[in-house]
Amino acid sequence: MSEPTPGPWKWHISDYSMATLEGPGGDEQRLMSVSPCKSCCNYAKSDGEPEWKWGRCMTPSEADARLIAAAPELLAAIEAALRIESLWCPNGDINPEHDEEVATLWRMRQMFTEAVARAKGAAP
Ligand SMILES: [Zn+2]
Repeated sequence: MSEPTPGPWKWHISDYSMATLEGPGGDEQRLMSVSPCKSCCNYAKSDGEPEWKWGRCMTPSEADARLIAAAPELLAAIEAALRIESLWCPNGDINPEHDEEVATLWRMRQMFTEAVARAKGAAP
């Protein structure tokens, strides 16, 4: 399996008909493009001031688009937190004075481990 394109990822919007997610190499590093359907493009053209709008059919909402573009930074932050967790609790050792913190850290570890596995294609 190949490695994902490193971040930062940015959406480039050329006109009302297409937005492209690009890696740091810009146009040379296109990750994906999304377009509204043809009738939404025609509607955008006919309403006077054609501009891109997130959330038209076949495009993500603006919030989902921002989340997609933040994926590399989120993955890096999760991996950094997992490294810190492994240094604090190298053998799963628990200091009874810090039960609550360790339980929270353990839940975080579970969520992060699953998220990393999904991000890297090791889990559905
Ligand atoms: Zn449409």
